[in-house]
Amino acid sequence: MLLYPDMYLDSIDNLNIKVLREMGFEALILDIDNTIIEWNIRVPDDRSRRIIKEAMAVGMKVCLISNGTRNRVSEFAAALDVSCVYNAGKPRKSPYRRALKLLGVSPDKVVAIGDQVFTDILGGNRLGFYTILVRPISTKETKWTCFIRRFERIVLNKYNKNVKKSD
Ligand SMILES: [Mg+2]
Repeated sequence: MLLYPDMYLDSIDNLNIKVLREMGFEALILDIDNTIIEWNIRVPDDRSRRIIKEAMAVGMKVCLISNGTRNRVSEFAAALDVSCVYNAGKPRKSPYRRALKLLGVSPDKVVAIGDQVFTDILGGNRLGFYTILVRPISTKETKWTCFIRRFERIVLNKYNKNVKKSD
């Protein structure tokens, strides 16, 4: 199912990058808004810095991928010293291919992490990445995202039932 993540985390703070590295993954493709920082915060905070630092420490490459504007995304990525793809239009495939090129890794070595099913998870799954859905950091979101969340809840309810069945 292309809308189901391979893993769900209640908080990005529960992400164990070291374990992902031990599983053989070589790169992280990270959404920005509400995944590693609150929506629309322009400057990296402690949490986002820690995530990137942890990734670097275990030799994981990082690329930020966002539907946000060039200014917002490239400023943020530059402050963290990582590569990025802006105006991505997730879940389209082309921005992810661009990220793969920037990272220089094959799709099976990538973990894609994001807070939205219809962009981050669908997009990542389409490329064959290992996908992780995280609970959004903040409830502050655009009106459009709030609208989309209703449909997301339908998918996640089904996903949770399936997870319980396979336990
Ligand atoms: Mg997001």
